[in-house]
Amino acid sequence: MIDLHLHSRASDGALTPTKLVALAAGCSVRTLALTDHDCTDGLAEASKAAEANGIRFIPGVEISVTWQNRTLHIVGLGIKADTPVLQEGLAGLQTLRDERAQEIGRRLAKRGIDDAYAGARELAGRAEITRTHFARHLLARGHAHTFQDAFKRFLRHGKPGHVQVTWASLEQSINWIHASGGHAVFAHPLRYGMTRSWLVRALAAFKEAGGDGMEVICGRSNRDELMNAAHLAVRFGLAGSVGSDFHTPDNPHLQPGGLPALPDSVTPIWDRFESR
Ligand code: AMP
Ligand code: MN
Ligand code: MN
Ligand code: MN
Repeated sequence: MIDLHLHSRASDGALTPTKLVALAAGCSVRTLALTDHDCTDGLAEASKAAEANGIRFIPGVEISVTWQNRTLHIVGLGIKADTPVLQEGLAGLQTLRDERAQEIGRRLAKRGIDDAYAGARELAGRAEITRTHFARHLLARGHAHTFQDAFKRFLRHGKPGHVQVTWASLEQSINWIHASGGHAVFAHPLRYGMTRSWLVRALAAFKEAGGDGMEVICGRSNRDELMNAAHLAVRFGLAGSVGSDFHTPDNPHLQPGGLPALPDSVTPIWDRFESR
């Protein structure tokens, strides 16, 4: 079983890299990529844990991108984390994350929720703050009924705690990934809520900018989504990747691994890992 998209406490995952790798190994994952948001801090620990569990480790990252006023996520797989160009790029995004988190805190304070920044900061520990941390805090304080409800009420586009940020450009994200020897993968294409024509434009721009692959299977894709994504991968000459986008063991329906096989029409991105 291959799973090339998972999160640890180095960003918005609930588990330490060591616990995440052990859980994945127990779920029959034999090749795993850690892909934290805009951060590679968990990779060294995950790599050690993978060795201890006898599984193959692919160092990764999930980069936040702004394209045409929309947020896209570009996963880098097989990166060399200590590449200066990559780390300088990620450092800029980490600064943006902290500034945004403070602004989210101020906006929620105007709504009478005055401890949100401090709460998210505490949940994040040494990691950069994501909206996931705000959602967990808002849920814990009873401002939302469920984790999803916290996004729906406060954190989604158009809601009081949503702050527009200009992340990296599509070209920058791909350049940083390539500079560090990695492969750039367009993450969860069907989850942005884009119309078909916008998605086609985004994939064309990604391919044009040098993108290598796209996630054909992500999380609990159904058969229609899978065939739809496979068709797009073939159309744009992109290799296929598979990933759970695992964040937390709290959700019994989404664990590491447990993913369907890539359709034969799609070239697996992992065929290229050793070649570059
Ligand atoms: P950020 O990059 O800080 O804006 O946070 C984005 C993260 O929040 C994503 O990677 C997801 O883990 C999570 N997220 C975003 N939207 C939702 C949603 N509607 N429901 C649950 N989690 C979400
Ligand atoms: Mn996340
Ligand atoms: Mn994502
Ligand atoms: Mn993710």
